[in-house]
Amino acid sequence: MVTIRCSSVVSGLTDGVYSVSEADCLGKPTAREPGETELSEAVHHECGVAALYWLGKPAAKAGPASRLVSDANVTALMPSMLLDLQNRGQLAAGLSSYRGGRVQLLDTFKDVGTVGETFGMSDPDKHRAILARYAGCAAIGHTRYATCGRDDARHAQPFERHHGRLWKWFSFAFNGQLANYVELRDRLLARRHYHFTLNTDTEIIMHALAYRLRGDRPKPLREVMASLGRSFDGAYNLVFLDALGRMFVARDPLGFRPTSWSVQGRLFGAASESAALSNMGFTDIRTLEPGEMAIVEDGRLRIERFAACRRRAHCFFEWVYFAGVSSTLDGSSVYMARARSGERLAELEDQRMDDSCIVVPVPDTAKAAADAYAFRMGVPSVEGLIRNRYIGRTFIQPKTTRGQSAHSKYTPLEAVLGGRRVFLVDDSIVRSTTMRELAAQIRRRGGAKEVHVRVACPPIVAPCFYGIDMTTLGELFAPAFMPRRYDGTPSRQCLKRMAKALGVSSLRYLSVSDLGPCLQVDGEDLCTGCVTGRHPTKCGRWLMARARRAATAGGKASRTYE
Ligand code: SF4
Repeated sequence: MVTIRCSSVVSGLTDGVYSVSEADCLGKPTAREPGETELSEAVHHECGVAALYWLGKPAAKAGPASRLVSDANVTALMPSMLLDLQNRGQLAAGLSSYRGGRVQLLDTFKDVGTVGETFGMSDPDKHRAILARYAGCAAIGHTRYATCGRDDARHAQPFERHHGRLWKWFSFAFNGQLANYVELRDRLLARRHYHFTLNTDTEIIMHALAYRLRGDRPKPLREVMASLGRSFDGAYNLVFLDALGRMFVARDPLGFRPTSWSVQGRLFGAASESAALSNMGFTDIRTLEPGEMAIVEDGRLRIERFAACRRRAHCFFEWVYFAGVSSTLDGSSVYMARARSGERLAELEDQRMDDSCIVVPVPDTAKAAADAYAFRMGVPSVEGLIRNRYIGRTFIQPKTTRGQSAHSKYTPLEAVLGGRRVFLVDDSIVRSTTMRELAAQIRRRGGAKEVHVRVACPPIVAPCFYGIDMTTLGELFAPAFMPRRYDGTPSRQCLKRMAKALGVSSLRYLSVSDLGPCLQVDGEDLCTGCVTGRHPTKCGRWLMARARRAATAGGKASRTYE
């Protein structure tokens, strides 16, 4: 299991070990600047984005989704769309809408909380009032994930930037993380006398957008994105709306994070995950290709390319853990990818199975893999671990209490586990704190005879710089066991030592080469930075090299992009 966050903040200037700046890109370390500690707490956010537009004319056949719209008001659909993206972020939610003729042509509502809490979905009067106030023919929405602190509405998205000129008055939301955040920030601070208040890359993007929209007339939106694309390094999916009623949805040229879109009648919809569209009734759901943007201008929709896609780098972790199991990403079903991963684990299995064997998924993301693995092995897949769904956001707890979190988050069932040889299937192991605790609990409280761990993912050997915060290099479980020249398949010896460290009878992982076939995506089109240490962007590689140097030098562990 992963304590995952879709982080778009890259602050962490606490010790200067991993900071990046323009100087850093030339190989010089950045020291902490006075006063930065205050802003240095890593703030992690923005994981699900959505957009809706009631076009000037029908662009496709009407259907169930477009028939949900009345009075050209799409805002009413946004909360339910965001609910379908809630898996991507539970800390805050919000929307911006546009309505011509309203004094606030562009208006934003956002707050800390789940989508249901933010939009008052259990209070009909409050909910109706919000929807009425923000009614509009165009809306963008966001769900934010965060792991620590900063539970305040200032970090919630969309970010609206007010201005007297309509094309400079805009709002946007973001999913991803800029690997060169510090470089961009320092460049702005040094050259243009900017001031930052949040220390997030979202704030950087806001200033970058504002800068590119300067001038006496509206800039073509494609030009704006093309310019951003030339300076950004990393993952950045954006939804944007301005006070002229122009909208765009853009996906970065490597396509790290997914984006789907569709049109039905006059309704255009786009979302981080296809499930948010299909659940609304959209049928012909397409993928926004890397480097493309969907633009709505003068009520008309068009798809344009703002940057060349020289290679793809889809985050494999979206399929393994992060995306909702009902979504299809870049043409490949998340559920089927997880099921194939389980089947592959079964093909690799070398343990003898007998009547005492059971397969237990770690709830909930490992269930598809566990069921498929169990089916292939001919043993039952049972719920031996019950997850307490009401425990809240345990990821915000400090390291020292993580083991305790696992203890209270999962209850091992003795009636199921007692005397059994348990094959525990998980989607990933990052720090191992939770896995160690689970294995111990399954034996102690559950009474299992043996615990064998099967992981539907390769070992995590490096941090991510593109929006999924897996921890620091020093805190990762696997790297300490890997040989210097690790080829993507852990050796028997290495697995044995890892199993011993976890306190389990045996441990198996997928290999890096299994990812392409399991996901049914060409392996060359995947980002595998965290399982190979080879990141697909220049700044990612640079951060990785720096993290390695710091780890070798015994530097204090901090988030690698901090
Ligand atoms: S480094 Fe790993 S988690 Fe990050 S984008 Fe690449 S595959 Fe995804």
